Amino acid sequence: MPAPPCASCHAARAALRRPRSGQALCGACFCAAFEAEVLHTVLAGRLLPPGAVVAVGASGGKDSTVLAHVLRELAPRLGVSLRLVAVDEGIGGYRDAALAAVRRQAARWELPLTVVAYADLFGGWTMDAVARSTAGSGRSRACCTFCGVLRRRALEEGARLVGATHIVTGHNADDMAETVLMNFLRGDTGRLARGGGLGSPGEGGALPRCRPLQLASQKEVVLYAHFRRLDYFSEECVYAPEAFRGHARDLLKRLEVVRPSVVLDLVHSAERLALAPAAQPARPRACTCCRALASRPLCQACTLLDGLDRGRPRLAIGKGRRGLDEEAPRAGAQPPPSAALPAF
Ligand code: SF4
Repeated sequence: MPAPPCASCHAARAALRRPRSGQALCGACFCAAFEAEVLHTVLAGRLLPPGAVVAVGASGGKDSTVLAHVLRELAPRLGVSLRLVAVDEGIGGYRDAALAAVRRQAARWELPLTVVAYADLFGGWTMDAVARSTAGSGRSRACCTFCGVLRRRALEEGARLVGATHIVTGHNADDMAETVLMNFLRGDTGRLARGGGLGSPGEGGALPRCRPLQLASQKEVVLYAHFRRLDYFSEECVYAPEAFRGHARDLLKRLEVVRPSVVLDLVHSAERLALAPAAQPARPRACTCCRALASRPLCQACTLLDGLDRGRPRLAIGKGRRGLDEEAPRAGAQPPPSAALPAF
């Protein structure tokens, strides 16, 4: 049976049905609709003002590749300029190939690219070294906990290096729903309360961040990359199979079968969550090591690095952080270079 005509242009044959609406579109009309929706997200949320210098967190994966491509298409209408910032976490057998994809994109799209490395920013610590250290303490599953915190710090550093005024990341609706679910499952009300909305305005001197693809489903991100013939790196990080996120992803996939709207429902519910006054986290203060905003004496990045440097990474995560707070700072403790920023 031949494909129906495209419901938008009525000229070409439809090449897909949009996962949410069921609308049958040709590839060109789907890509145009996808870009228009991202433009609407950015304009309605006032995410990127005209004149903004935007650092795009580029990993070489599908999400950041699609984000960079769409923003490059929209940049003249938004009046913004783009810089690609990639983070080299030091993950052997994974990140080098992903960075090669980012370099190809930067060359093809004529966008300036800056790469910042954990090893340079965090006293020689790479993710492979962190994994060895956490495995020795029986917490190898914590790799992504360390990486998520350090990556955020590294991206901030890279964005400042290139003179950016704003940071954008490629998180899509599925990523956000997984994060909301993980925060619920962990009982992390502080993160739940902070995680709603399309980004953060840049508290404590940090650069404003936003997620223009936050309302786009993962399926449509993949379809956009397919129809625009984008070159991206699709292998999974070697540490990803151990991450808690995988369990949230599996659960969401099963829930989507019986309730297709579950991903967006979770994203929107997080936007509307409000903590009771008694449950509000304490007002953030300056980290005693790097002056970044922190809810404890040390910010998350300094706590993790402190635990690693002491050879006690297990103490640096979860409730173990209290143990480090109560100990004197290790002798000669230095803030990571990036932590000199008034961020977080
Ligand atoms: Fe880092 Fe985990 Fe992502 Fe790998 S999967 S890049 S360790 S956050």
